[in-house]
Amino acid sequence: MEQLNLEIYGCNKCRLWQDAKHGVPGEGPLNAKVMFVGQNPGSDEDELGRPFVGRAGKYLTKTLVEFGIKREEVFITNIVKHVSPKNRKPYDDEVRACLPYLMKQIRIIKPKIIVLLGASAKETPRIEGIEYIQVIHPSAAMRFTKMREKFRQQIVELAERLQQI
Ligand code: SF4
Repeated sequence: MEQLNLEIYGCNKCRLWQDAKHGVPGEGPLNAKVMFVGQNPGSDEDELGRPFVGRAGKYLTKTLVEFGIKREEVFITNIVKHVSPKNRKPYDDEVRACLPYLMKQIRIIKPKIIVLLGASAKETPRIEGIEYIQVIHPSAAMRFTKMREKFRQQIVELAERLQQI
């Protein structure tokens, strides 16, 4: 994984590295049972080189802890590993260029469950034997009451599922 992270830090396979301060490979234990995948790092993540450390990330971490899931036990990453200008949605060619890194991370970690954070994580590769769970993106959950209720319920169900594996 360290080698892979170095590749990401030095990657120039698409245009996104040009305006980024840091590559954001992701973080978490290599034996994590569950992996969270978002779309791309934002400005806070770019600043620190860590995934989901901005407002939405803090909300996600808080909700996980509330339902008994420690952030240190899960691997968190994104489909695209560099921030996009003005946080725009990554273009298809950028996603295509970056996906092999996510694929390698999945192959190394071999999670039992992959949690897709929002519909924008839909390009995450599907691998047989892994259970995929789609949840509301934490930034939407923070803003809208109905989505927050649903998101919290989804995390409760995830915590229950984790007890079974
Ligand atoms: S976003 Fe991905 S493919 Fe593009 S430069 Fe960064 S690591 Fe490379």
